[in-house]
Amino acid sequence: MSVASHASKFAAPRTDAAGRIPLIGLNLQEITDLLGADGMPAFRAKQVWHWIYQRGVKEFSLMANVPKDVRAQLAEKYSIERPKVVTEQKSEDGTIKWLLAMADGQQIETVFIPETERGTLCISSQVGCTLTCRFCHTGTQPLVRNLGAHEILQQIMHARDALDEWPKVGGPNDSGRDLTNIVLMGMGEPLYNYQNVAKAMKICMDGDGLAIGKRRITLSTSGVVPQIRQCGEELNVNLAISLHATNDEQRSSIMPINNKYPLADLLDACRNYPGVSNIRRITFEYVMLKDVNDTDADAYRLIKLLAGIPSKINLIPFNSWPGSGFECSAPERIETFAQILADAGCTAPIRKPRGRDILAACGQLKSASQRARKTAETSQS
Ligand code: SAH
Ligand code: SF4
Repeated sequence: MSVASHASKFAAPRTDAAGRIPLIGLNLQEITDLLGADGMPAFRAKQVWHWIYQRGVKEFSLMANVPKDVRAQLAEKYSIERPKVVTEQKSEDGTIKWLLAMADGQQIETVFIPETERGTLCISSQVGCTLTCRFCHTGTQPLVRNLGAHEILQQIMHARDALDEWPKVGGPNDSGRDLTNIVLMGMGEPLYNYQNVAKAMKICMDGDGLAIGKRRITLSTSGVVPQIRQCGEELNVNLAISLHATNDEQRSSIMPINNKYPLADLLDACRNYPGVSNIRRITFEYVMLKDVNDTDADAYRLIKLLAGIPSKINLIPFNSWPGSGFECSAPERIETFAQILADAGCTAPIRKPRGRDILAACGQLKSASQRARKTAETSQS
């Protein structure tokens, strides 16, 4: 399916249930044009933009320097709401997972992972995923639809609400925030929803928008080669590649997208990704699957494959789910694999799974909520 037809078939709704247009997700020019058509001057759009992205207000009634009648006029036609929080779960390691309901009731998961030096928000780009990577639980759930730019941004804005990280009126403008980094590693393939992801990330990176710079944003892809190039040119955020295998046969057997964009093309796109250097490396994610991709020979092939690409390899212990048919490699096997890479001079840390107790780890998203919903439906019937 072409990217264009894919986008239209799975498009996000443009208005909420009450027919209001979300202003979140529109750039300043678009807001200016929209409000201009309602007879409002350009400075009004600037004020509204400021309240939305720099102050994080959720209601027009709080826009203090906008006249009251104008606030009411805005509230009738537009919305600046957040998604509804269906559940909030906190892991014993501090990870927080939110199940969020969009205006049309579709649900996605967003995860906040606090670390000593930074705090990372893992956001979703689609409801479900069309790609059926065999080790990934999200991949067993068919794509419902793309998220709109507003729904991608709303996840970040919701996290700022929940962590109480909007600057206070009269307070300092940037009070040491816990949420410092964004990773597009939640549900979905961000490069199959490129237009909306790009629009959202531009507002996220805008110094007058959410002001989270490109060096603090990482986009993870299973390897949609044409959009990797576009992403490099237009956004130039950090890139993470879900590699997970060391030859085409092996990769195609666990990641069908490899039939379309084989390793040589994928690695070529990585080599040509703008701005890649030893201080700005590409992350290669490698999920450790017992007896599938974890032999010494795999480790040596991996070293050869990535030679010449400034890279960091993240070894991810497989997070299992019922019926996956895969097992995680034994800890000693992962250690040996990591050691072979380290001996060859590769940076290859073993990723510590976060939020496993609340099913917030890689590849587990959404599954829990679907299960919960199924259980609820069964118990009602
Ligand atoms: N669709 C994008 C981003 C979301 S997946 C992508 O595939 O890159 C985020 C990461 O989790 C990817 O590297 C993915 O391959 C990995 N992953 C998926 N299922 C997993 C599992 N069960 N255990 C560990 N990692 C998994
Ligand atoms: Fe989709 Fe990424 Fe899961 Fe593959 S690993 S099914 S691309 S979410």
